[in-house]
Order: sequence, then structure tokens, then C-alpha cells
Amino acid sequence: MTSGVLAGLDRFDGLFAGAGEPLGAVVDGHWTATAGESVPVEDPATRQQLAVFGEATESDVDRAVVSAERAYREVWRDLGGVRRADVLFAVADAIRRNADVLARLETYDTGKPLKQARSDVATAARYFAFYAGHADKLYGETIPGEGDYWAYTLREPYGVVAHVTPWNSPISQMCRGVAPSLAAGNTVVVKPSEITPLSSLVAARLFVEAGLPPGVCNVVPGRGATTGAALVAHPLVEHIGFTGSVATGRRILHAAAERIVGCNLELGGKSPTIVLPDADLQAAVTAGALAVVRNAGQSCFATTRLIVHRAIADEYGARVAAAVQTLTVGPGIDDPDLGPLASAQQLAKVEAAIESGRAEGAELATGGTRPDGLDGYFLSPAVLTGVRNEMRVAQDEIFGPVQTVLAYDDVDEAVAIANHSSYGLAAGVFTRDVATAHRLARRLETGQVQINRYPMGGVETPFGGYKQSGLGREKGLAALEHYTQLKTVIVAD
Ligand code: NAD
Repeated sequence: MTSGVLAGLDRFDGLFAGAGEPLGAVVDGHWTATAGESVPVEDPATRQQLAVFGEATESDVDRAVVSAERAYREVWRDLGGVRRADVLFAVADAIRRNADVLARLETYDTGKPLKQARSDVATAARYFAFYAGHADKLYGETIPGEGDYWAYTLREPYGVVAHVTPWNSPISQMCRGVAPSLAAGNTVVVKPSEITPLSSLVAARLFVEAGLPPGVCNVVPGRGATTGAALVAHPLVEHIGFTGSVATGRRILHAAAERIVGCNLELGGKSPTIVLPDADLQAAVTAGALAVVRNAGQSCFATTRLIVHRAIADEYGARVAAAVQTLTVGPGIDDPDLGPLASAQQLAKVEAAIESGRAEGAELATGGTRPDGLDGYFLSPAVLTGVRNEMRVAQDEIFGPVQTVLAYDDVDEAVAIANHSSYGLAAGVFTRDVATAHRLARRLETGQVQINRYPMGGVETPFGGYKQSGLGREKGLAALEHYTQLKTVIVAD
């Protein structure tokens, strides 16, 4: 495995040992050959092949789910919160000890700059530490009965939870779902994106080295329509955690409906930020520019509709354009501000979106070109000004380094523009007036509102969407509600 550009990453020799060529699944703690088609994994900065994996077939998926179900019944469910916490803290430590190598792997696989990959790996460790701290605190309530009984509740795990993840932040998204699932006593099977499966596979081996019992966390590589569909339809999967696009989320929800199992969905976004005339304009400009930096704009909660009071909209647009012009673009391993987009398909989609914005009358203030001398899927960050909310470029999620600036005349119009979207993941507000900030926070139809800085929040802040941005909440204590079911015990007095 550790050939080509990964050859210098010696630690992988241990983690991939036994994987053979092509890479298989991690089932029962071991590399397991998979019987499906070979799928190449590409470095988006160079278009070179990084690795090849064998797609997990229906029967490979079955072995992974059966292994998870056995580990649930025989080991993990009854281990007790205190001992589960010990193991999960050890996993957090193992991620931290291997942060350097994991970050470099993530950079090669996704294209993201190394400092962003390091931040994602730190977040992955933090998920384990945060939920480890709650593994022994999943309390129920006591309920006073009406005279002749009393009652209490228990929070119990489901069994096997399937996690299907996207390609933009694979290791942190995997751990975002896996850590609370395991803390609550479930076991998991993860299906990472076929575009970026490497860090999830390595992480599963690392977890076993750190002391996670075999079978508690399995990873099956493969494409969505084959491996993913087989996983979510498996009769032993009792809950599904999905992160990805609205179109796939709809399919996952259908699969969950077929078997009446629970499902939390973290989907796309087109997150607005309202900039009031009294705002700290520099802070708002920074937020507008930063939205294209994280994963080159391939971030679900990037704020990509900047709704600015007309009196300052021109100045604001010009300053955001000037700010993004200073950003460096290059291979993630050289740690620029922006790496490449994740795939040829994503690059084509983003370029088409910019073209559609121009065709609808927006002005391209800067960017949107392929930088010279780079072979991968690079695009210079773009700012479109004079955008109107009915344009496709303001309604569709672009998922790339493209910022849009829209003008409003009064605050009610700003709220109407912000809320006129099929998405509702997050929103921003920039104003020096505290009362206005809180009033707008209540009026915005989004699962999160960020005031006077964007992006903010961490592992501890609940995250998820209103409207088509999803169902349920990840992060924070709220996530534990998805991964436990409530039992009420009623006792005669
Ligand atoms: P996608 O929906 O194409 O794929 C996501 C995952 O679903 C992949 O692992 C894919 O293989 C799998 N999949 C596809 N079809 C499937 C099927 N029929 N059954 C089971 N699994 C299937 O999304 P993507 O292109 O990988 O990711 C980009 C999208 O993810 C964007 O819309 C972005 O906003 C969203 N996203 C959301 C969050 C969040 O937390 N809300 C975070 C990151 C990305």
C-alpha cells in the first residue's frame, strides 16, 4: 500500500500490514479481502493514484454487520460505561499520538491543506474524549407515578449503527458519528466515501491497536449504490447516521422507512450571513473570505450567501474580493490557504455554477480560474457580486470556493432573503447591537446561528439542519439522543 507518494509515511506500513493489494475492509479488527470491483483512489492535487481498494460486496457488508452485532451482544453492550469510557479515552490518545501521519494521509486523500487536516484530526480525537466523558453518565429520570406505581427511564443502545460519510472531512465526520454511538454502547459499521476512504480504514485499525475490541468498529469501502445501499438495508442495522447530499439523504430515509429504523441526516447547506450597517465590517469581511478557505469551500456549513445592507454592499463586496485574492492555492501538503477540489467532477460542477451565475447577471469580481502550473483540480477562489436570491447560484449548494454577495434595503427583507432557501443548516449575523443580534437569531430558520464571527463552534455545540439540511443533531450531548433509545420501567407500589 505505502508506495508512491505515501512511501514516506512509514507508520502506514504497520497500519496497512496485511491489507495486500487492493485494500479491503476492516472487519473484526483485521484487514479482510473484499470481493467487489477494484476502485482507484486519487490524489486530487496531482491526479496520481494513491491506492486501490476492493469494493465491499453485499456479502462483505454482511460479514461486517454480523461481526458488529456479535461484538455488541458479547462484549460492548454489557461492558459498562466506566470501562467503555476508558477504551474511548485510549482511542482519543491514539489518534493524538498518530496525528501527524493521519493528517498527512488526509491531506493526500482529500487535497485539503495540512493545517486543516491537522485540525480535523484534533477534532476527531476530541470527539472520542468528549463522548468518553459521557459514557458513564447516560442517566434516565425517575417519574413520580399517580398513586400506585412509580417509574424510571433507562437510555439503552440500539445495537449496530451504520454510518455513511462524505468526502470533505472523512476522519472527523467518521468520529463525529462513531464516538457517541460507541459511548452509548452501540457497535458500528462505517461506509466512507469512495473518493476518500483511506483515513477511515486506517483509523479502524488504529482503534483496535488502542484497545477497542475487534468488531466494535468495522469499515467497509465501496460506492454508494452498491456497498452503501447494502449496508443501510441490512436487517441487523438498527439505526443509520448519514452525512452527505440531500439526494442521497432521501434514499437513505426511504431505506430506513422500509425497515422502520431511526435515521439522522446531516445534509447540505447554503448558509446566509446578514451584515447590518453597524457591523464590524472587517470581521464580516474575514468571515466572507474564510468561507472559501475551509476545504476550498467544500464545507456544508460554509456561509455562502452574504446578505449585506445596500449602503455598504459595494464596499463589502470589493473588500471580500480583495481578501480572497491574497489567498494562496496549491497542493495541500505544501500548506497553502486552499488546496484542490476533491475530484474532477466537483471542479466541473463548481465551474458550471460560476458560469450560471454570470449568465443570470451576477458579476464575477475575482477568481474562478484554474491556476497555471498546477495539475490537480485547482480553482482560484471566486466572488460573485450583484447576486439576487432567485438566481441558481444563490439557491443551489455549490460546495466550492465561490462566494456570493446580495444586497438588502431593510432588515425584514434581509431575513426574508436568508430564509428563502430549501436549506437551513447555519446562519451568521454581524451587528454591534446585541438586541438585534438575538432577535435575528430567533427569526432565522437554521439549526445554528453564529454571531459576529463565522465559523465558530466545536465538538460540544449541537449541529444540524432545519428544512432540507437534515434531521436530528450531531455534536454535543444532543447527539447521544440519536444513539440511545428510551425505556420506561413502571413498578407497582
Ligand atoms: P453524497 O450524498 O454523494 O455521498 C455521501 C455518502 O453517501 C458517500 O459515502 C456515498 O458513497 C454514499 N451513498 C451514495 N449513494 C448511496 C446510497 N444509495 N445508499 C447508501 N449510501 C450512498 O455526498 P458527497 O458528495 O460525498 O458529499 C457532499 C455533500 O455532503 C454536500 O451536500 C454537503 O453539504 C454534505 N455534507 C454535509 C455535512 C453536514 O454535517 N451537514 C457535512 C459534510 C458534507
